[in-house]
Amino acid sequence: MTILESAPVSTLPAGRLFIGGSWREASDGGRMDVIAPATGEKITDVARATKEDVDAAVAAARQAFDSGIWSGLSSRERARILQRAYMLMRERTEDLAQAESVNVGKPITFARFVDVNNAAELYEYYASLGHSLDSAVRETTGNTHAYVRKEPIGVVAAITPFNFPLILSSSKIAPALIAGNTIVHKPASGTPLSALIVAEILQEAGVPDGVVNVITGAGGDLGDHLVSHPGVDKVAFTGSTQVGAHAAALAAKSLKPFTAELGGNAANILFADADLDSAIHTVISAFVFNTGQFCMAGPRLLVERPLYDTVLGILAGAVPHVPLGDVTDPETVIGPLASQSQLDKVSELVDRAKTAGARVVTGGHRLEDRPGFYYAPTVLADLEADAEVVTEEVFGPVLTVQAFDTEDEAVALANGTAYGLASGIQTRDLARAHRVAARLQAGITWVNGWALLDPSVPFGGVKSSGWGREGGPEGLDGYQRSHSIVINLEQGPAS
Ligand code: NAP
Repeated sequence: MTILESAPVSTLPAGRLFIGGSWREASDGGRMDVIAPATGEKITDVARATKEDVDAAVAAARQAFDSGIWSGLSSRERARILQRAYMLMRERTEDLAQAESVNVGKPITFARFVDVNNAAELYEYYASLGHSLDSAVRETTGNTHAYVRKEPIGVVAAITPFNFPLILSSSKIAPALIAGNTIVHKPASGTPLSALIVAEILQEAGVPDGVVNVITGAGGDLGDHLVSHPGVDKVAFTGSTQVGAHAAALAAKSLKPFTAELGGNAANILFADADLDSAIHTVISAFVFNTGQFCMAGPRLLVERPLYDTVLGILAGAVPHVPLGDVTDPETVIGPLASQSQLDKVSELVDRAKTAGARVVTGGHRLEDRPGFYYAPTVLADLEADAEVVTEEVFGPVLTVQAFDTEDEAVALANGTAYGLASGIQTRDLARAHRVAARLQAGITWVNGWALLDPSVPFGGVKSSGWGREGGPEGLDGYQRSHSIVINLEQGPAS
């Protein structure tokens, strides 16, 4: 069965804009193609929003917020609706998984059990927090009664990247909704399909019209228009460091709160005392998962020197056997890159690394024997610490391997890029795990594993990987503001 047969166009959303609770075409009737990365063929097309459509979506979200139709509900009432959304996402697992697989090129098993599962659990998790969103009473020295209300910020522009459309929209929409905000969501232009299904689900769950709006369209001018829109109160951005910095600067002009989940280039430190079998499994999955298009991937392996040659030998034997290919096959682990431009970018970076003297342990080339945007999983060795392929975010199935002699050197190499999103330590020495973890500049560190994610555990970046956190109670911080109310208890009753 081909990928397009497995996700027939008739089961995909019609591809219109979702504004004010109804579906509409772009104001100028524009459409844009959606491509299947596994074949390079067109799957369908969706509306290409104009600035007028952005204005309409923001106006709908503004009106819904100001009317109190959502923020005026108790958080427990909102929680019940989010819980229904969780149940509906479970019921529509196949629709969501097929859309995510055909559109992003994700192997179907991962689309089902990682993308849909984690996205649904984010709704369930934030629904659960809705039962304990209390205001806090503060002790004061004066004769006053003081309490701090946590209030929604207003209209949130949620902008998401191409690699995890469903999870990353959920990590914004679920906390924003439970806190009482309204939303305009702009998914990446290449991967808009699951966002349209989520709009259907949220409406069916009982989210009132105008509270969640989805506009599909290209970033650039449209993104600038959304970020700088006077009707938007907050921007939640996930994407590249370059576009994030641009959008943050634009938002700063009107002092809009801005959360930024940006690029990553994590180091995975493998100490010689680690359980080697398990560590190798972790190393491989950390760099091939989602074809390396994972902000928290582990593309930089740092190996304690006595193990360096052994590890390279094991990787050379094992990596070519990781199942790669047909994304509809439940056994497939590695799919294509998500677009022609991703394929070109990865390919060019590796070619430059080869020219600069990197040793190709395995891979290092496009897979030209098939259609679609496939690249061989690649391991590169003998690299300088400042090599471009080491310091830049490659965002493909490419692992660089460097040796270290001491703990200090491992920490220095790990912290030696501009990024600071994720990191990993493979060791059996517990004291070392704690000691090294505390020195790593990253929002999250995994010990003896990778991508051990849970909706209750926050993630986010330091340095060029951004600011703010998603997941956990911390994920609510970006969607609430504190309002202190202090009452003078000394004033007597009016006479
Ligand atoms: P991107 O090019 O930065 O795009 C991200 C989003 O921003 C897309 O929806 C894009 O729309 C939009 N956009 C483009 N120009 C804009 C503008 N001027 N104003 C406002 N929005 C604009 O990133 P990507 O290539 O989709 O995603 C890959 C990057 O995301 C990687 O760097 C990865 O590390 C990062 N990422 C980070 C996290 C995290 O949690 N830290 C998670 C996932 C991915 P178009 O698609 O229409 O251009």
